[in-house]
Amino acid sequence: MRYVSFLYNGAARAGILDDSGVHPLPAEFASLTDYIARPPRERAVLSGDTTLELGEVKLLAPVRPHKNIFCVGRNYKGHAEEVARASGKPLNLPPVPTFFTKAPTSIADPEQELHLSPEISKEYDWEAELAVVIGEQCRDVPEADALSVIFGYTCLNDVTARDLQREHLQWFKGKSLDNACPIGPWIVGTDEIPDPQKLQVQLRINGVVKQNANTSTMIFSVAQIIASLSRGMTLEPGDVIATGTPDGVGMARTPPEWLSDGDTVEVEIEHIGRLCNTISLAVPATAAR
Ligand code: MG
Repeated sequence: MRYVSFLYNGAARAGILDDSGVHPLPAEFASLTDYIARPPRERAVLSGDTTLELGEVKLLAPVRPHKNIFCVGRNYKGHAEEVARASGKPLNLPPVPTFFTKAPTSIADPEQELHLSPEISKEYDWEAELAVVIGEQCRDVPEADALSVIFGYTCLNDVTARDLQREHLQWFKGKSLDNACPIGPWIVGTDEIPDPQKLQVQLRINGVVKQNANTSTMIFSVAQIIASLSRGMTLEPGDVIATGTPDGVGMARTPPEWLSDGDTVEVEIEHIGRLCNTISLAVPATAAR
């Protein structure tokens, strides 16, 4: 099953997507996050609403968690190697996952133009990632059971202001600017993805492949990430975990490359879909308040 959040006639709705189109969920579900939070028996059958064409709706970020997005740093061997090389440090693979978070206000919609101010950072970088959406409240989940707490998977771009990430020591600020976390275009349920460690992850800028790796090369598997993160810490329905990025980020290139005004960035993950955003580095005329 594929799940979408969308705007139609000015109203945000949740729905199920199949080959015939978008089937809106009953309006009693205020959002897809609300739907995911219900026990499976309450996730009602489809409403009798009309089927909408995908082109008739504007897709929104499938979930907007009320708390920070969990992220894993350096979780592909190739990326750990390129970061060590670029920073002139020896390669030390992490013994446990490196967790950090992004502010929920950083989330952006599929196809949304990502406004990033050139006055705030000169070094906007890309990170294609498989994102996991948690389906139930859980804690201390054993690795062997970890896939059972997942609702589904989506694409995520962990856009990073490298200069801010460096200057502030803690990564939070450089990872959390507005528009720095586009996700989507939809959530694919676990029924369609029995094994998350067999997915090709690719990122293209203006059609040029920059990242291309398989989730089989993760250092910590999705199950190991959930087991580690949930140890002594409650995870909730709708929580999003970004599982790390492969090699090919801009900072590790020679010379380094950064996102430019007008760039089209695509994150495509096998069996999930393609998340596409354009970049705007225009200086805003007036600061939003
Ligand atoms: Mg990342």
